[in-house]
Amino acid sequence: MKSPLEAPERQITEETSAKPQEPAQSVIDTSKMSEGKRAALDLAESSRDPLDERGSFASNLFIGRFDFDRIFPYPVQSAEDRAKGEPFLKQLREYLEANVDGDEIDRTGEIPQKNIDDLFAMGAFGVKIPTQYGGLGLSQVNYGRAAMLLGSWDANLTALVSAHQSIGVPQPLLLFGTEEQKEKYLPRVARKEISAFALTEWNAGSDPANMSLRADPTEDGSAFILNGEKLWCTNLIKAGVLVVMAKTQPKMVNGKERKQITAFIVDVDSPGLEITYRCHFMGLRALYNGIVKFTNVRVPRENMIAKEGQGLKVALTTLNTGRLTIPAACVGLSKRLLDICRKWVTERVQWGVPIGQHYAIAGKVAEIAGNVFAMEAMTFLTSALVDRKAGDLRIETAMCKMWATEATWRIADEAMQVRGGRGYETAQSLAGRGEPAIPVERFLRDCRINMIFEGSSEIMRLFIAREALDPHLKVGGAIFNTQLPMSERAKAVFKSGKFYASWYPKQWLPASAGDLDKLHADLRPHLHKAARTSKRLARGLFHAMTRFGPKLDREQLLLSRFVGIATELFAISATCAFAQHKIDQGEPASEVLSIAGYFCRAASMRIDHHFAGTARNADRAGYDLTQELMAGKHADLREGIV
Ligand SMILES: Cc1cc2nc3c(=O)[nH]c(=O)nc-3n(C[C@H](O)[C@H](O)[C@H](O)COP(=O)(O)OP(=O)(O)OC[C@H]3O[C@@H](n4cnc5c(N)ncnc54)[C@H](O)[C@@H]3O)c2cc1C
Repeated sequence: MKSPLEAPERQITEETSAKPQEPAQSVIDTSKMSEGKRAALDLAESSRDPLDERGSFASNLFIGRFDFDRIFPYPVQSAEDRAKGEPFLKQLREYLEANVDGDEIDRTGEIPQKNIDDLFAMGAFGVKIPTQYGGLGLSQVNYGRAAMLLGSWDANLTALVSAHQSIGVPQPLLLFGTEEQKEKYLPRVARKEISAFALTEWNAGSDPANMSLRADPTEDGSAFILNGEKLWCTNLIKAGVLVVMAKTQPKMVNGKERKQITAFIVDVDSPGLEITYRCHFMGLRALYNGIVKFTNVRVPRENMIAKEGQGLKVALTTLNTGRLTIPAACVGLSKRLLDICRKWVTERVQWGVPIGQHYAIAGKVAEIAGNVFAMEAMTFLTSALVDRKAGDLRIETAMCKMWATEATWRIADEAMQVRGGRGYETAQSLAGRGEPAIPVERFLRDCRINMIFEGSSEIMRLFIAREALDPHLKVGGAIFNTQLPMSERAKAVFKSGKFYASWYPKQWLPASAGDLDKLHADLRPHLHKAARTSKRLARGLFHAMTRFGPKLDREQLLLSRFVGIATELFAISATCAFAQHKIDQGEPASEVLSIAGYFCRAASMRIDHHFAGTARNADRAGYDLTQELMAGKHADLREGIV
């Protein structure tokens, strides 16, 4: 049974039947790069699946296409799917409230084993694992709703459940596992064993090409022998099984050696595997994160995930969807912080009125509320599209992760300011002197890491920018690629000339957001403006390409402004679609419109700021200054301190 709000059959067919693209030839000239950068890019490019030709709503924003009909009507969860998730979500909600003490977990640095056992029994560690393997077999949206509940209550538990399912054994096996692997491991991780994901090493954080943990084949080829160490592996201390990324024998590509990374499932009780250290952090005090050492650990070949050399592809593809858990948890936390602020600005009276009547504080609360609305709109829109298998959503998921984690950090920071001294005081201390134990400082400590792990904000911007430039690189990248023969480069000049002769003039024509008849009149101007802005963005990106040519990838701050503009446009569009959905559901239009309208105006101001920065900025001066500091200049800045 389809709900009336599900995508039309034609759209689903079109979006899911897009032909997989041939692996693209390298469109980036890496010949003049430093060895480290070349290795990083070669590896990333060889592990990257080409974007599907039709792009997605968010990716098309960069080429001036505003396909609002791909996200409108808002792809709401079907009634059937909602009903399927409801019993579990109700149980989880009641369980958290009655049995999980976030402040105690934070204070002791331990999650009670009973909580973990109960969550296993409930199925919370196997939400998306199909029922045939012992999981709950729920959708991405239901999983997101579970992450939202967890995120609103306790970040340590969220990390445990999320690292296990979103990047640990379940997701890569669901995507790439053989039937034997699924039968062997999925029932274990659904109901009794925690899993973890081990990629990072001392010298390999954002740069997996630097990895040194080795997996060498045994003489008879039946197994691999792992040697090396992994750092900061979340869940490790409690885990029974790990996904481990290891360097395998390099491959020769066009006469050059290319690094190979391969993914393995490794049982924690394998001989030679040692957990050597538990790490501790500013927040997430009960994170079971540590260092794991491998000394001649034998892993049977059948434990390899996908093919040899496809490890990074496994990791990147896993994260394309796995990345949605963090923003869903951010929605939960931000809603909780909004609730705290709403109460406090109403109750707390200073200078004769509730502090919410002082403009400085009212501005903060409005900003929090608008961002909560937009964050929910973007995250659950993308989750629903994932459930519909609606094409390639890597840009949407990366935008959700980057935008939501940064917005949540600002929300936690502002919530602390709104709460004043009480925001900075621990929950335990507040309770000790008779005030409600409101843990804003814990929330602030806990949410900071979200901008660092599972792809830092900087790496997310590079990732989105790479995909944004893809259509241009495909038609024109070869022109500048000195590694290609002249004949290929000449062909590219012709191809790109033809493409840009038709594409570029269109970016100056009036833009349309399509048929917006079904949208409230107050929402339409935001979308018309967004459609115009998408064309302006496409022109800006094109001008930057003609100005910087192949060196554009060095202009990270400039590219990050373009990424920022597109992300705000995605947020505005998702917000308007979500707002209309709410109005259609009978929510008071004036309330919905005031929050959506506020958000769109605020986002539009951020877009103006980004555009202003593309024309006038201090990027070059800032870069030079940092190089001077790195060279030891400006010694006076170190004077007068201890
Ligand atoms: C609490 C916690 C839990 C974690 N859990 C796991 C886990 O379960 N499994 C796992 O494998 N790893 C895990 N990690 C590792 C995490 O994913 C890395 O910290 C992250 O990838 C960044 O790597 P790094 O810390 O080495 O920073 P670096 O890569 O050294 O980067 C430092 C800074 O430079 C920026 N930077 C790096 N390269 C570039 C570039 N090319 N352009 C612009 N900026 C750049 C980064 O964004 C960052 O701001 C965890 C880390 C922590 C702290």
